[in-house]
Amino acid sequence: MNKSGKLMRITAVNSAKDSPKPAVLLDFDDTAAEQNVAELLLTQFGDPTWQDVRSRFRAGEINLMEYQEIAFRNIQADRTAMRDHVRNNANLRPYFNDLRIFCQENSIPFAIVSQGLDFYIEALLEKEGHTQVPVYAVNTSFSNEGISYEYRHTRPGQENQGNSKGLVVEQHQAQGYHVFYAGDGMSDFEAATRVDVLYAHRTLATECERTNIPFHPFTDFQHMLHAVQEYHATGISTK
Ligand SMILES: [Mg+2]
Repeated sequence: MNKSGKLMRITAVNSAKDSPKPAVLLDFDDTAAEQNVAELLLTQFGDPTWQDVRSRFRAGEINLMEYQEIAFRNIQADRTAMRDHVRNNANLRPYFNDLRIFCQENSIPFAIVSQGLDFYIEALLEKEGHTQVPVYAVNTSFSNEGISYEYRHTRPGQENQGNSKGLVVEQHQAQGYHVFYAGDGMSDFEAATRVDVLYAHRTLATECERTNIPFHPFTDFQHMLHAVQEYHATGISTK
């Protein structure tokens, strides 16, 4: 027993040094943010037909990229008004700050991966003092003609699907990172099948249960923080 116990301890120490470094990727709406911030904005500023557009998306008639562009097309507000609404009505999920600070202090990559729009994600991050967090999202620009959209993270050959969260995960893994990921929706599923440690709730959790993909449930980021700390210290992942 002693012999094997000692062996295990040595293995753990070695693996902390030799194993891949962790990276933390978080979905935004209903994950990093406690609210669905896109829907918060559409409820306040959107054309009343946006819920019909959402129904068409949920029925599979249009994809997420089309839903978002159509729903935001007729919005009756400028960028500043929408950013102010986000700052006044949304918040980050508990332990987000602790997780971010731990990653920052230990040079662990930490990023938002979202199919949402950059301006509302950045508004909430800035409100809570996180101006340096990388955001992989839809890049927007505002003009008198409305919002235009740029997709910089599409999977080659699947540009009409918009950004691919799975692609961003793969890019981190290709750089040698052990990816911790949290998400809530079907747009996270492609990423969920690829990540090393998965945190899921809501629709994503249901889909992972149905397809036998292991995950940790979450309501805040405390468990994820401890798991990243443990992995960083020992190289052992509680998958
Ligand atoms: Mg989400």
